[in-house]
Amino acid sequence: MAKQGNIRIASENMMPIIKKWLYSDKDIFLREIVANGIDAITKFKKLADMGEAQTDDAEYSIKIFVDKQAKTLAVEDNGLGMSEEEVEKYITQIAFSGAADFLAKYEKAGGEGIIGHFGLGFYSAYMVSNSIEIYTKSYRPEEKAVHWESDGESTYTIEECDKTDRGTKIVMHIAEEEKEFLEESRIRELVDKYCAFMPYNIYLNFTGKDDKPLNDTQPLYLKNPKECTEEEYKEFYRKTFHDYHDPLFWIHLNMEYPFRLKGILYFPKVKSKVELERGKVKLYCNQVFIADNIKEVIPEYLLLLNGVIDCPDIPLNVSRSFLQNDRQVQKISRHITKKVADKLTGLFKDDREKFQTCWNDISVFIKLGCIKDEDFYSKVKDIIIYKDLDGAFKTLQEFVGKPVEEGESKTEDKEEKKEPSTIYYVSDEVGQAQYIAMFKGAGLNAIVCDTFIDPHFVSYLEYKESGRYKFLRIDADVDAALKASESNEEANKELVEAFKNALSNKTISVKAEAFKNAEIPAVINVSEFSRRFGEMNAFYGLAGADADRDMTIVINTTNIAVKAFLGLTADKQAFVANQIYYMAMLSYKKLSPDEMKAFIENNMSLLETYIG
Ligand code: ADP
Ligand code: MG
Repeated sequence: MAKQGNIRIASENMMPIIKKWLYSDKDIFLREIVANGIDAITKFKKLADMGEAQTDDAEYSIKIFVDKQAKTLAVEDNGLGMSEEEVEKYITQIAFSGAADFLAKYEKAGGEGIIGHFGLGFYSAYMVSNSIEIYTKSYRPEEKAVHWESDGESTYTIEECDKTDRGTKIVMHIAEEEKEFLEESRIRELVDKYCAFMPYNIYLNFTGKDDKPLNDTQPLYLKNPKECTEEEYKEFYRKTFHDYHDPLFWIHLNMEYPFRLKGILYFPKVKSKVELERGKVKLYCNQVFIADNIKEVIPEYLLLLNGVIDCPDIPLNVSRSFLQNDRQVQKISRHITKKVADKLTGLFKDDREKFQTCWNDISVFIKLGCIKDEDFYSKVKDIIIYKDLDGAFKTLQEFVGKPVEEGESKTEDKEEKKEPSTIYYVSDEVGQAQYIAMFKGAGLNAIVCDTFIDPHFVSYLEYKESGRYKFLRIDADVDAALKASESNEEANKELVEAFKNALSNKTISVKAEAFKNAEIPAVINVSEFSRRFGEMNAFYGLAGADADRDMTIVINTTNIAVKAFLGLTADKQAFVANQIYYMAMLSYKKLSPDEMKAFIENNMSLLETYIG
């Protein structure tokens, strides 16, 4: 005769509320039920080791069974099991009061929580089940096996049963609208997500000895880094992140003090911005998956990497708001930053060649890290390299060719008032090709900063290194070294006026300079300040995003067409001025449709005269 009892909880209608609130995260129930089985085995093993329990030779394992016909999902362990008294105490009272507790906490947390963070554990299975049965037999031989069942609403039954082997079987009667959890593929997916590294073998629909476990009970990150081979790291990466490209390199974290932390962070090969955002750092607690990409534990910019971090000191069931305020968690985050910086500087020093080969793939991540975290910037600033116009990679220090000023102190700076070194940079090797040619011709050099993050990074550098470096885009100004002689505004006044008139309808300033390179009739200059302002506005989607405000056309007085300009008729001046303008604009950026049309017409008339 089954005994009946009432479930003592404050709220009567919890199920509908929990189901509604926790909809998106309900698949976590499987982690909770499997983790309970793992806990039960761990506890049993401990008892056996202490000689307090009798072992048999069955393999410690978790077996999951899906039965579509019966609409049940069952999880069976051979852990320590429970007596009737224990079921009443741990399942009926604690698990259910845990749920009540959850409701109280959930209201306080303002609705941001997810179930795993609240330790509902066993109870979470009711998110997908109409009712749950427990068959359990304690490791203590004198205890009888028990069967417990409840629909999770308000009552349960408990009675003796004839289970003979030690352990617990949880049978979930899956609700009609949750029948996806009766699909083997779905269960595999969940085990892969939550249970991939759990410490005992997990089988699905176990039939006999040939079955392969779904999980890896000895994930590589637990191994001593000294004993891991390169192939093992790559293999672990492929398996865990389902990426068939090899990672560039990796960092194996392994520490015991002042907190326990193990894990591997991989730097993936990044081919686009979209891929960059696909990074994933999985957080585990004692081999149980907690969540992906927890910003509180792993610095945000590191989330671009692929990795696993196992930190037993982070409680499995905690809320985000707890993590944000936890000093331990902040220490962990800082430690990870430090390790990453150490690895990068180590690679730079020990294998510069490899560092340079990887640079394209890792630079965006490093630059983002610098912008987001000053601490990280100060650790890696001396290893940031830039490609120059000859394709060589240099640090800024190497680029300006100054000796390394170790321990340069602030007071010294004040006394000397050194001028910052001007560094020219190229943001578009095609659009700025004309400048690049002139720079090279004059023996000048520039760095290439052409990734999507570079405009921000250059501003950031200038702010952090103000007084040391000043950055100018290669087309922002005409460097003295490009000129054949000093500018002479007075002498060129007439030419500039005439040119401006000839361009009648264009809103652009005109300047004249004598370039060493006589082949180029004119170049476009855009003031660094207003261009950056425009870029920033564009980035934030504000008005004034037109990056071409403040444009100047600099005509070259050593060029043959410019030399002849003042001697031409008004008609010819208009033609030549526009043609020079189009050519300069064309190499700077695309022409507008109207300008392109006019340019082609001009060219056509040139062809006609040429043909005669
Ligand atoms: P938690 O695991 O956080 O304690 P749960 O709600 O998941 O909370 O489980 C409540 C308790 O029920 C556990 O602490 C354990 O004592 C008992 N329990 C649950 N599942 C099992 C199991 N498979 N074997 C033995 N005991 C279990
Ligand atoms: Mg639990």
